[in-house]
Amino acid sequence: MSDRSYYDILGVAKDADEKQIKSAYRKLAMKFHPDRNPDDPEAEAKFKEAGEAYSILSDGDKRAAYDRYGKAAFEQGGGGGNQFGQGVDPGDIFGDIFSEFFGGSRGGGRAQARGQDLRYDLEISLEDAFNGRDMEITLPGKEACDRCDGQGAEPGTQPETCTTCHGRGRVRVQQGFFTMERGCPKCAGRGTVIKDPCRQCAGQGYVQTERTLSINIPAGIESGQRIRLSGEGDPGGPGVVPGDLYIFVEVLDHEIFERDGPNLYCRAPVTMVTAALGGDIEIPTVEGGRSRITIPEGAQTGRRMRLRGKGMTSLRGGPRGDLYVELFVETPQNLTARQKELMREFCDESGEDCNPESNGFLGKVKRFWDDLTDADEAR
Ligand SMILES: [Zn+2]
Ligand SMILES: [Zn+2]
Repeated sequence: MSDRSYYDILGVAKDADEKQIKSAYRKLAMKFHPDRNPDDPEAEAKFKEAGEAYSILSDGDKRAAYDRYGKAAFEQGGGGGNQFGQGVDPGDIFGDIFSEFFGGSRGGGRAQARGQDLRYDLEISLEDAFNGRDMEITLPGKEACDRCDGQGAEPGTQPETCTTCHGRGRVRVQQGFFTMERGCPKCAGRGTVIKDPCRQCAGQGYVQTERTLSINIPAGIESGQRIRLSGEGDPGGPGVVPGDLYIFVEVLDHEIFERDGPNLYCRAPVTMVTAALGGDIEIPTVEGGRSRITIPEGAQTGRRMRLRGKGMTSLRGGPRGDLYVELFVETPQNLTARQKELMREFCDESGEDCNPESNGFLGKVKRFWDDLTDADEAR
């Protein structure tokens, strides 16, 4: 596969919108489609290349990942046949776009009926997103029927070859310039017809059950990202390729930390005295530890301090993000008579130097009023 960027392959600008991308892909696909370029390996390569580019750029999540990490974002992740961010399956996208103008044909080869893709929504804590986690999920599923061995035919009988499509699963229809292929309406693409359906599964080949899957949540995952488990979707039925299972991850809000990509943010209260005199405070970290930060003398509300490398883990094993701590100075409350007296005493001792912001502000207000008066007099 070439090193050209997906944008260059489609010949669109980096900020191209969905419509421009689809239109550019459509043109290339029409030009290089195998039906129009039989036995032309170069056209076929171009066709595949355009398909790959389109599969990424037409998907908001994948496009964002590509813009950020390049093609590395779609390299295979490890572990138990579990691919993250993977999903460049020409079948998916061609099915989508070609049903519009090629009648679903993918140029030769026996078309294969496919089970539906399934979606599973999974909520995880910020800590799990930070550490990554192996977990089990239970979902409703289908299991091959033991009476008919998943064939759907009553034991002792056999599914028969479909007489409409002669076992191909698809039928050809001539329409203008193109020869279209459609799923066979009689056998629903299976190529076989069951005359004597199994009594246990009514010819489905499957019975309802529950299944448990082990999944690996990679450290650093973010809300909106998804994990594809190839072949774990709906099994479909006899002679059908199972669909894929997509796990949509939602990272729950955290009591202390807010997340923005790799970085974490938290607000930390500082007492008036610490803010005035300076001192150390302890900040919790997402891994469950604590970090000390030194508050400088005269710190103000809104001051932001950075703890480098104390943010989230990176999905691609890169360096950790940062933790930003925003200070807010807490005004003392519930003062005793003695404390109030001390405050008043402090106030009497304070000169303009103690409150430069307040004094600066008063100066600005005075100039503002003076300007208004001057304008009135000039009128
Ligand atoms: Zn059965
Ligand atoms: Zn058929």
